[in-house]
Amino acid sequence: MGYVSGLKCRECGREYPVDPIYVCEFCFGPLEVVYDYKRIKRSLTRKSIQKREENLWRYRELLPIDGEPQVGLKSGFTPLIRADNLARELGIEELYIKDDTVAHPTLSFKDRVVAVALTKAKEFGFDTVACASTGNLAHSVSAHGAKAGFKRFVFIPATLEPSKIVASLVYEPNLIAVDGNYDEVNRLCSEIANKYKWAFVNINIRPFYAEGSKTQGFEIIEQLGWKAPDNVVVPCASGSLLTKIWKSFKEFKTIGLLKELTTKVFAAQATGCSPISAAIKQGTDVIRPVKPDTVAKSLAIGNPADGFYAIQSVKESNGYGEDVSDEEIIDGIKLLAKTEGIFSETAGGVTLACTRKLIETGKIARDETTVICITGNGLKTQEALNGHTASPHYIKPNLASFEEVLKKIQ
Ligand SMILES: *Cc1c(COP(=O)(O)O)cnc(C)c1O
Ligand SMILES: [Zn+2]
Repeated sequence: MGYVSGLKCRECGREYPVDPIYVCEFCFGPLEVVYDYKRIKRSLTRKSIQKREENLWRYRELLPIDGEPQVGLKSGFTPLIRADNLARELGIEELYIKDDTVAHPTLSFKDRVVAVALTKAKEFGFDTVACASTGNLAHSVSAHGAKAGFKRFVFIPATLEPSKIVASLVYEPNLIAVDGNYDEVNRLCSEIANKYKWAFVNINIRPFYAEGSKTQGFEIIEQLGWKAPDNVVVPCASGSLLTKIWKSFKEFKTIGLLKELTTKVFAAQATGCSPISAAIKQGTDVIRPVKPDTVAKSLAIGNPADGFYAIQSVKESNGYGEDVSDEEIIDGIKLLAKTEGIFSETAGGVTLACTRKLIETGKIARDETTVICITGNGLKTQEALNGHTASPHYIKPNLASFEEVLKKIQ
């Protein structure tokens, strides 16, 4: 009943059966899911999608599962919000926020990828799921995995924000805090994945996991009235989300749900970890790995697995890359909150601050339609704002004390 015809190496094109594998035996290229678009085109229409429940599984023909969805039945279909206050502030005409700060159940876009990965892990018959995480993936694997009844091993850098660690621990996974950065955690997890028969969502299940990111792109198109925006700005860690948003737009075009596609895709990173935007700016395809040093920890991948493909997507779409300092990131978080009432985590500050720069430098035209992907909730990284907000007005519990303060405010 599924529409997947197999896996295929993105480099040499060799084909593989649908298995929990992720790398080509011949050239070590990454494997990708291949669909039968002809059959999908016949069965998936705008009408059939619109009749379905408002979750990410409404696009299930374009997701790599065989049977019924089993995880994340309330994930996805987050709001696309017209952001007129913010648009005015940035001096552009039409701006939308794809708001995954309210993703179910753990308030980041990772709930999409994990819903797909764990459904696939069930189909493969795994009883244990695992991941290497910069924070949000840990939350989502812990939560979705609890509900779905998996044993869970979650690996994170020990230096993550304390609130991010608590927000994993509450689901009682086996949380392993590694004395190293994400790239070291990831290397260790590759070794563990070779030895233990677990479904590592972003290692051996990665080809399936990554497909979940497409749903953010599908939703943008549907929510814009089956139109693609002129510009979309996407935060990059491994570069997977950006690559898959571009793929989702192309797939909708392929199966006829989208008439025209002229979207430019923009990569947003923190300057303290900007291997992708740096390569784009230098006009090279070669990612130079870096040691991350940024407040945007959820994006702190110094050696991005999909960096090369993210660059190709940006080039193919005539987009660009931009990066911003920690100070600009904090300003971005505050600007989004005070204009649109949305509290995003540091990754959202990156996206917004990069968007502002792209407008100022003319890469994004002021009369075009722009969508910015806000991928995680600010309650997860409150520490980032320590010392960057005003203090409360402290008063005694009486009217006189309040009115003393009121005089100063007015
Ligand atoms: C993981 C993550 C991203 C981007 O991840 P990719 O690895 O590039 O797909 C963006 N924003 C947030 C909040 C994330 O947690
Ligand atoms: Zn290959």
